[in-house]
Amino acid sequence: MSNIRFEAIKMAMEHRAPISKGGSSKSDGNEKAKDYFALDVFTRERMKEYIADDVLVQLFDAVDNGRTIHREIAGSVAIGMRKWAVDNGATHFTHWFQPLTGGTAEKHDAFFTLKDGALMEEFSGDALYQQEPDASSFPSGGIRNTFEARGYSAWDPSSPVFLIGDTLCIPTVFVAYTGEALDYKTPLIRSTAALCHAAREVCQYFDKTVKHVHTNLGWEQEYFLVDEALFNARPDLVMTGRTLMGHESAKNQQLEDHYFGAIPARVLAFMRELEYEALRAGIPVRTRHNEVAPNQFEMAPMFEDVNLANDHNLLVMSIMERVAQRHHFRVLLHEKPYAGVNGSGKHCNWSLQTNTGINLLAPGKNPYQNLQFITFLVNVLMAVYKYNGLLKASIASATNEHRLGANEAPPAIISVFLGKQITAVLDKLEHAKAEEAIIINAKKEMKLGVANIPEILLDNTDRNRTSPFAFTGNRFEFRAVGSSANCGAAMLALNAAVAEQLRFFKQEVDERIRQGEPKEKALFEVIRRDIIACKAIRFDGNGYSEEWKKEAARRGLDCETSVPLIIDRYLSADTVKMFHTTGVLSEAELHSRCEVKWETYSKKIQIESRVLGDLVLNHVLPAAKRYQTMLLQNVLAVKQVFSADETASLNERDYDIIRRIENHSGAILKGVEEMTEARHKANRQPDERSKAIAYHDTILPLMAEIRTHADELEMIVDDEMWTLVKYRELLFVH
Ligand code: ADP
Ligand code: MG
Repeated sequence: MSNIRFEAIKMAMEHRAPISKGGSSKSDGNEKAKDYFALDVFTRERMKEYIADDVLVQLFDAVDNGRTIHREIAGSVAIGMRKWAVDNGATHFTHWFQPLTGGTAEKHDAFFTLKDGALMEEFSGDALYQQEPDASSFPSGGIRNTFEARGYSAWDPSSPVFLIGDTLCIPTVFVAYTGEALDYKTPLIRSTAALCHAAREVCQYFDKTVKHVHTNLGWEQEYFLVDEALFNARPDLVMTGRTLMGHESAKNQQLEDHYFGAIPARVLAFMRELEYEALRAGIPVRTRHNEVAPNQFEMAPMFEDVNLANDHNLLVMSIMERVAQRHHFRVLLHEKPYAGVNGSGKHCNWSLQTNTGINLLAPGKNPYQNLQFITFLVNVLMAVYKYNGLLKASIASATNEHRLGANEAPPAIISVFLGKQITAVLDKLEHAKAEEAIIINAKKEMKLGVANIPEILLDNTDRNRTSPFAFTGNRFEFRAVGSSANCGAAMLALNAAVAEQLRFFKQEVDERIRQGEPKEKALFEVIRRDIIACKAIRFDGNGYSEEWKKEAARRGLDCETSVPLIIDRYLSADTVKMFHTTGVLSEAELHSRCEVKWETYSKKIQIESRVLGDLVLNHVLPAAKRYQTMLLQNVLAVKQVFSADETASLNERDYDIIRRIENHSGAILKGVEEMTEARHKANRQPDERSKAIAYHDTILPLMAEIRTHADELEMIVDDEMWTLVKYRELLFVH
């Protein structure tokens, strides 16, 4: 009997790495990478060849200082851009944007149009500047009526255009005709502007030459690889990106031998080509290694400006999928493709840097820089404390929900890990008197009297892996972000929260100075008060422990675990006000975002639940029945051959298995019926929020129950009859 599972395994075993671009070991060397780095990007260097100097001066000025670009400038830029693209083989262009459903979207148009029977080159400034993609199918949470369909995409000149194959990709924002953001990029850009402004103001206390504060993001993308033949033999992976059932493999990650182990040859070939393609696209990838779970890997670039870094992350996710297919792999970006082994996250390393080159989250070289460092550190703590619920909402999704609260980062409670050294500094500041903390000598030089802040804090032994938000020496690392997420959602919430907090901070310090307090004392007093106020957010212990859950609740931190309810945090009065005053998102935009989030949540679970129903009815139960029939026939045959006395004991085990198959099968059938009914009921809910709550409360538990029985059957049924590729094959074949 042919069995799709065994055919798939056979195909997988035969798959070999193709001869790939960047596949030679030479491409690992820096020299070689330098030759093709950013080859597919219209960099500033290349612009100089294609665009007139006076136009470039205006363009760069607009980009660097956040000024509007005039249409005439866009027109001149478009001509140069098209020429470069066509010189490099492009025939089409697309506005590349980030809809709220996740991923990226594009609509390709040719550079050429037909005019009077002849082909004419056409790519005007207007086409670069603004497009009206027929994007009526993208969710807008009610902002834009579908029949109206007047969303438009507009050029983001701060992120360079690039080529993918024959297409020029233009990073764009996507907004409604009435101006509301329909994407992640728009509010992310607004949030960096708000943060830049607020941080620059606070920097003036320490250094008047600071004109600009940049927000940096360095992401670490985790992912799983699975052979394409095995993937195709699992309808749940194909349809939902995760396995909806599957008994744990006898060997999992217990030995942790995969982590930093040798990278398997086929995977290494994939990684080399991925890196080659990423480098060509101007993405400064640097790190690659195995992750904790089998067949799980990570890639990370050098950090960049958050808007560009986020574009690059989205681009890498699509490059990954393309390269994986060439290597007969599928890449799983889902946060939890397999139960029982670690899921995938996307650590977001976040920091602030001045135009004068100072990292505001790193200890400095003199007392002023150190006071500045403490100022920013404490303000971030305050922001995370005030908005811990919102930050959790910013990473919450149907897919990431499987990671939240599981025994792996992140716990479903946001807290901040600081490490011993910084904790000691803050503790001393908390108890110090202003006169001891800040000493100004006769020469008017300042000295920080409280604590030594070592210049380098990086200490790899002191990194709490269970913390969702950790200080790692010169940056914060937001680890709760999901592997499939657009980092923009988390980054814009963090940026906005910190921007608001810095503004409050400045108002208070200014008020004290106005009342006659010396600047240093005013800074110190506000910092100390905030250190005390936000103490509840600091936690260096084990974030997975039961005691922490209780302790966190006592501290008043947000402990909600249901994603539909976590999404409510976007709409709390404080949050609405914060997003409004920072200019990052209006109340209408927040409401529409929540609608989209709830709707997406329900839809994902709806699909999963349907696929699970199909799987158990069409794969699991038939296999179980076949095996049960075989056992029954065997029992009958045994009875014919042996005497009644002998068969009694002989049949005992068979009877037991036959009965267990019957029980599990019955439970599955009942579960599927209830699940279908629960779905119908959920779909009848009057609004998206109630629907999402119903999906969470009634359908997820039924799915879990059905799975338990299906997994039990997997253990019972003859291996040869089982048609679904098993965990041990998905996880260990490469
Ligand atoms: P890990 O040990 O956590 O894997 P790495 O040293 O590999 O950390 O760095 C992870 C990411 O952090 C990289 O993308 C790196 O560029 C980024 N990173 C390093 N310093 C900073 C910083 N100051 N701000 C933002 N990101 C940073
Ligand atoms: Mg890290």
